[in-house]
Amino acid sequence: MSDYEEGKTRWWGWGNVDQRFDVENRSRLIPFMQESLGMELGRERFSDPVLDEINIPEPRIASEILDTIAGIVGPENVSTTKFQRVSHSMGKSYRDSLRYRERKIERAIDAVVWPRGEDEVVKVLRIAEDNNLAVIPFGGGSSVTGGVEPVSAGKTATLSLDMARMDRVLSVDPTSQTAVIQAGALGPEVEDQLNVQGFTLGHFPESFDHSALGGWIATRASGRQSTGYGDIEDMVLALKMVTPRGMVETRKVPNTAAGPSVLQLCIGSEGILGVITEATMSIRPVPDVIDYRGLIFRNFAAGVSAIREMMQQGMAPTCIRLSDRAETALANAFRHTTGPKWKRQGEDFALKLLARRGYSFEDGAFMILGLEGDRDEVEYLRSGILKLCRNLGGFHLGTSPGRQWYESRHDTAYFREQLINWGVMVDTLETATTWGNLLHLYGEVRSALRSALEEQAGRAMVTCHVSHAYREGASLYYTFFAPMLPEGKEEVQWEEAKHAASEAIMKYGGTISHHHGVGYEHASWMPNEVGSISLAAIKAVKETMDPDDIMNPGKLLPITREG
Ligand SMILES: Cc1cc2nc3c(=O)[nH]c(=O)nc-3n(C[C@H](O)[C@H](O)[C@H](O)COP(=O)(O)OP(=O)(O)OC[C@H]3O[C@@H](n4cnc5c(N)ncnc54)[C@H](O)[C@@H]3O)c2cc1C
Repeated sequence: MSDYEEGKTRWWGWGNVDQRFDVENRSRLIPFMQESLGMELGRERFSDPVLDEINIPEPRIASEILDTIAGIVGPENVSTTKFQRVSHSMGKSYRDSLRYRERKIERAIDAVVWPRGEDEVVKVLRIAEDNNLAVIPFGGGSSVTGGVEPVSAGKTATLSLDMARMDRVLSVDPTSQTAVIQAGALGPEVEDQLNVQGFTLGHFPESFDHSALGGWIATRASGRQSTGYGDIEDMVLALKMVTPRGMVETRKVPNTAAGPSVLQLCIGSEGILGVITEATMSIRPVPDVIDYRGLIFRNFAAGVSAIREMMQQGMAPTCIRLSDRAETALANAFRHTTGPKWKRQGEDFALKLLARRGYSFEDGAFMILGLEGDRDEVEYLRSGILKLCRNLGGFHLGTSPGRQWYESRHDTAYFREQLINWGVMVDTLETATTWGNLLHLYGEVRSALRSALEEQAGRAMVTCHVSHAYREGASLYYTFFAPMLPEGKEEVQWEEAKHAASEAIMKYGGTISHHHGVGYEHASWMPNEVGSISLAAIKAVKETMDPDDIMNPGKLLPITREG
């Protein structure tokens, strides 16, 4: 069951309350950031909020309705406590973290409901429809696009339907290598239950610990190992979704030619059509070998060519990430500086020698190559890929950088928490395009972001990596940092930067999102993304399944977000 508990989960930001980013063991990091951003770090601009400092109005929901819902799900599975309402009112984007720290909740959830099964979801939706309540399905609440925030114009009240009680792997079919999993299972719950039977789903987003199967499917998420295991949409064979007008249940078949895919229509529906209750997922044997390595290329373009060649020559790794020059320099600053002095001196010396040969962490492109599978397969791919990279100018750094990345792969989100408290704007955005357009799009989005940020704050750092590779192209993932503008201007600063990047993405042939989804943050770009007739078709499906617009109103489709 979900660990969304008072005192345990950082409701105003990312992760567990008792987990913090380890700055102390990375002595290069803070000086590097200070130099890049032209600001001093360490002084608290924001303190972590406490619940008493947050004002939200009384719940707008009538007690008789709450009693009826409690009669269905059990009184312990309905809550209007401040902790539950506040923690379910926003997701985990930079803007959300900022507003929580400013003690500012514009629109609050009125009640949180935890259904225990599909029948209860059906009944709760019926009550919601009868009483004009908005319903927002809630997985882990890790949305970075405003997906779980109420935007319920014209609704009496908003329920957050937290799927945490539906967290079981219901069955595993080892012959077909499939598993039926309930939508509320968080990443660790999915893996723990599959691993004991010798299987893995292979979906490991950075938000793994605090995101759930239903949320992954509803947002078309991608794990960091998606190049090998596939994106979530490649793993779903079938699903069940409760809509206000009835059940959608797709057939458990590996493929079908029975018309346009209703399955794919539900995947990515972000809660606007109904509540995904369970899915039949493709699973794989737990890998015998997990092998992560680092490589460095003289420049980003050379590394991009290497990834394209791997994919097009049929040598897809499980995980691949290629950092641009700015992210490579940041990765170097992230390196641990603890351990025996001789070891660090040895590393520094080796890096100096490499830099003399043109492979510099100041100027080059750092690559993480991850291979998972059975021993023979991993060995075969490793030797092929390393040879290909060598031929295209890559230098193999061995397993140590790969292991360090793998071990600290969940840490950077905690660094974000620290930076925001110190007054640094830090956010990420992502897109995808074909190989032929990749470097062009990369440059245009980067310069649009840089110009917007520098114009506002004077200084900025924009980093990018290629990940989630395909035969035809890949995703570009940007992280941007800037000193926050003075009080009151922080949100506008972020909006302007985000707008500039999104416009460039659309203009230069990317998609508004490769894996974060739409929510309300990207909704106004949807007409441009899919075109007016396709948008009308999505609206028509919504009107069929949810004619009263109770399901997550104001998301995915471009309508006003004022509630
Ligand atoms: C630090 C951090 C790292 C991240 N890393 C990644 C990453 O590596 N890859 C990636 O793809 N994304 C990533 N994200 C974004 C986010 O984790 C994903 O969008 C994730 O898929 C959301 O899952 P969730 O369970 O938290 O969904 P929620 O945030 O709870 O919900 C997201 C949307 O899905 C809907 N929804 C949730 N459950 C259901 C359901 N059962 N039925 C119907 N609709 C539902 C909600 O209503 C909402 O619209 C990251 C976010 C953060 C904060």
